[in-house]
Amino acid sequence: MEKAQVKISDAEWEVMRVVWTLGETTSPEIILILQEKMGWKPPTIKTLIGRLVKKEVLSTENFGKKYIYRPLVSEEDTVKSATESLFAHICAKKIGSTITDLIDEAELTHDDIAMIMKELEAKKATAVDNIACNCVPGQCECANHN
Ligand SMILES: [Zn+2]
Repeated sequence: MEKAQVKISDAEWEVMRVVWTLGETTSPEIILILQEKMGWKPPTIKTLIGRLVKKEVLSTENFGKKYIYRPLVSEEDTVKSATESLFAHICAKKIGSTITDLIDEAELTHDDIAMIMKELEAKKATAVDNIACNCVPGQCECANHN
């Protein structure tokens, strides 16, 4: 389970969630679940599966007439890579306020909040006074405000 930098679409992500949950599966199984949930037609779902195989996110093994699909990347790595690519679109100076927005919008349990507070407490040890802007001039307002 390497390949941290896989980019998958929102629709492909729905297929992967089924495969991650089942561990290994067949296209009729994926179609049964997603037809119901998403209202997609079988050919659409088969196209998505084909793309994921091409991207080497899914492995495929042939047993007679049946194809067995298994994930080649973990859900955790894929989520991490999506978060990293979100942060890559933001000025380094704005990451703190973006994380605050994410927390503001999220529904959290008391345990979640305790976990986040513990992480923040530990983070104080490596906190810096200033973060340098990492943007191309003209792509953010840092050059004007410093
Ligand atoms: Zn910037």
